[in-house]
Amino acid sequence: VSRFNDITMAPPDPILGVSEAFKADDHEMKLNLGVGAYRTEDLQPYVLNVVKKVSCFIYSCSCLLHESVLCVYYICFEYVLKFDITFSYKICRQKILCWNGESISGTGSLRLAAALIERYFTGSKVLISSPTWGNHKNIFNDARVPWSEYRYYDPKTVGLDFDGMIADIKAAPEGSFVLLHGCAHNPTGIDPTPAQWERIADVIQEKSHIPFFDFAYQGFASGCLDKDALSMRLFAARGMELLIAQSYGKNMGLYAERIGALNVVCSSSEDAKRVKSQLKRIARATYSSPPVHGARIVANVVGNPDLFNEWKEEMELMAGRITSVRKKLYDSLIAKDNSGKDWSFILKHIGMFSFTGLTEAQIENMTSKWHVYMTKDGRISLAGLSSAKCEYLADAFIDSFH
Ligand code: PMP
Repeated sequence: VSRFNDITMAPPDPILGVSEAFKADDHEMKLNLGVGAYRTEDLQPYVLNVVKKVSCFIYSCSCLLHESVLCVYYICFEYVLKFDITFSYKICRQKILCWNGESISGTGSLRLAAALIERYFTGSKVLISSPTWGNHKNIFNDARVPWSEYRYYDPKTVGLDFDGMIADIKAAPEGSFVLLHGCAHNPTGIDPTPAQWERIADVIQEKSHIPFFDFAYQGFASGCLDKDALSMRLFAARGMELLIAQSYGKNMGLYAERIGALNVVCSSSEDAKRVKSQLKRIARATYSSPPVHGARIVANVVGNPDLFNEWKEEMELMAGRITSVRKKLYDSLIAKDNSGKDWSFILKHIGMFSFTGLTEAQIENMTSKWHVYMTKDGRISLAGLSSAKCEYLADAFIDSFH
């Protein structure tokens, strides 16, 4: 008898299941709106030109290419991040200290922060939005960090339940961590306005909570790195301590390179040094040192003004393509649908995702009749839509909603 006999089957990953079903479908109009990865107008994966350029350069000149990074993270990466990508330039200028550490993409950064919370903030809980990216619950469960939800999505308006959000953050025990999506909220596509961010910051400050930003889509909301960092810069400008888990998966198209950063803003250099030492210790015992190729790419792009500008231009193009299919989808819906349904949520939502409000039965119709694949919560990724297929998707929506 095997001693592994008692291990039960883990549930399948809901997003990977969508992709597998999509692959098995051979209908010519099939659409995969399930995956949050950027696709070109031909619905193909995209390698940024600036990334190709820098990769060639890295391979041509480094004899240390596959040496492991003995210092737990890639030093140049830390150096480069000081030049600001999220917010650190402003922070350093204000002489508030922060730690920028490379970690294993957005997920690894969140998990590292969760381990820190579990160890040094025993009993503190993390507040997460309802709904949120599915893996947040897994991450905090695995790290044994208690969490609860704050209201976020309002099905009546297909928009933000701002009053509910504020009330729930207020009602949480003092000193809780509040997980916020820096921009382009996943799965809803609904972000607070700048005035609402101010109010959220007021309440977090009143309650001595600690803001914890998940920043997986910088550049994908507005096409501009600076605009998309408005939320956390606003908190940082108040001198608040905060955590930021950043991913370069989407905005540099480096999904499989697993490159991200955990930024911790502390009020004193002594605190920052101690926090850094503990995070390095957790990383050392978890994965020893991170993969370095993605870090080299990011460091080279961000550290060179010409390449940095090139990156920004490509990011603007990616975000622009998503905005344009949003518009085309909306126009097609308006032109075809005479039921009076308000489709404006498609235009109001931002980033890759939109929460459609489709029920499970309606989603089943989208898939079985129209070959449109999406997650069961009703989220669609506009990155998986081409302008050539907007009319087809509009037909599918109209048929499924009514
Ligand atoms: N946070 C959110 C909100 C996400 O959508 C994702 C990716 N789907 C991540 C974090 C993790 O990204 P990564 O692939 O960089 O681990």
